[in-house]
Amino acid sequence: MAAREKPTCGRCDAVCCRLTVVVMADDAVPRHLVVRNAQGVEGMARNEEGWCAAVDPLHLHCSIYADRPAICRRFAMGGPYCLDIRATYRDQRSRGIPLTLY
Ligand code: SF4
Repeated sequence: MAAREKPTCGRCDAVCCRLTVVVMADDAVPRHLVVRNAQGVEGMARNEEGWCAAVDPLHLHCSIYADRPAICRRFAMGGPYCLDIRATYRDQRSRGIPLTLY
């Protein structure tokens, strides 16, 4: 069996940027990109297609990369969670299932 190619952000549809991103008090995220839920927890706002509001839609890059939240800094490219959500994303797309948010 051929080894699966290691994923890179440059060859991904920013799948991780559809996950829920909690914004912590120490994060220096532009406030217009932050929403607060009914429980008072702050997180990154999403655009109408479900991606984080900080995603540059033309290039699928983070537009606030230098100031991205700590939770985004800890997300391991190619780690188990990355591989898992990429597999789910590919499966949903191949079967024409509308993308879901996490
Ligand atoms: S802040 Fe940046 S890295 Fe974090 S989810 Fe949004 S676009 Fe992705």
